[in-house]
Amino acid sequence: MSLPKAELHLHIEGTLEPELAFELAARNGVELPYADTDTLREAYRFEDLQSFLNLYYELMAVLRTERDFEDLANAYLARAAAQGVRHAEIFFDPQAHIARGVEMGTVVEGLWRALARSEAVHGVSTQLIMCFLRDESAESALETLAAAKPYLDRIVGVGLDSAEVGHPPVKFREVYEAAAELGLRRVAHAGEEGPPEYIVEALDVLGVERIDHGLRCMESPELVARLVRDRIPLTMCPLSNVRLRTVDVLADHPLPAMLDAGLLCTVNSDDPAYFGGYAGDNFDAVRSALGLGEETLRELARNSFLASFLEHDEELRARYLAEVDTYEF
Ligand SMILES: [Zn+2]
Repeated sequence: MSLPKAELHLHIEGTLEPELAFELAARNGVELPYADTDTLREAYRFEDLQSFLNLYYELMAVLRTERDFEDLANAYLARAAAQGVRHAEIFFDPQAHIARGVEMGTVVEGLWRALARSEAVHGVSTQLIMCFLRDESAESALETLAAAKPYLDRIVGVGLDSAEVGHPPVKFREVYEAAAELGLRRVAHAGEEGPPEYIVEALDVLGVERIDHGLRCMESPELVARLVRDRIPLTMCPLSNVRLRTVDVLADHPLPAMLDAGLLCTVNSDDPAYFGGYAGDNFDAVRSALGLGEETLRELARNSFLASFLEHDEELRARYLAEVDTYEF
């Protein structure tokens, strides 16, 4: 669906399509343990968050140079633009690269080569959000923030991702305080597989402005009331929820109930190469599976721009909102 929208929950490493993985593997002399793109695509049928993460980290081995990260970002931006994405706030996972000897500068400069030209080339404005891997230590997160200091003019905020359960937000209090002092915006994955208490902690302890996923807030009426009152955006990823078995089938997704409750929900793709679709595909999927009407879809698109970190350019936000309002289905 080409309805204009902002994508606020997108891991750039999760946009690596099998074709590009093989191209980069050949370029860098990396041996992939898959015979061809079809065999690799088969492997994309994982069972749960951990089996997805195992493949996700395995394939990152093909990303080595600035040019690789530039190509990865360009491929995503082209696909996103074709599906109506007008603004993208892109997550990246530096620890996953630094751990295999790829420097912070290679990642950021490579992504930046694509992002700097994105408005001109793809018609998509962009921002970069650096995520900490929550299954790594708090010390490692602090080291990662320190390594990012020379590049902070290119990074709008910090996030928290990877395996949630057993890694509560409070573990990252110190690094989020340091990020706040550096003027970085703060978001975190919470309430995807983890309990509603993780959402409360992300708000109270980490001071986040947006919650990524946040699905399980629905188990706590008190928390829902707070999220509604404070207009805290939730970046939902419906196709991801089905693939990772957070919900059984899309028709059971709580999105309509969440909108009815007054929550500021947005629809995003998470790791589109792995979860079966980009932002527009997610809109199409919720439209057909949940029977969402045009005005609800328009509300979701408006929410995405309202929840965007576009405070530096309110004129641009207003222009995007006007595009949503005048869009003809
Ligand atoms: Zn995510």
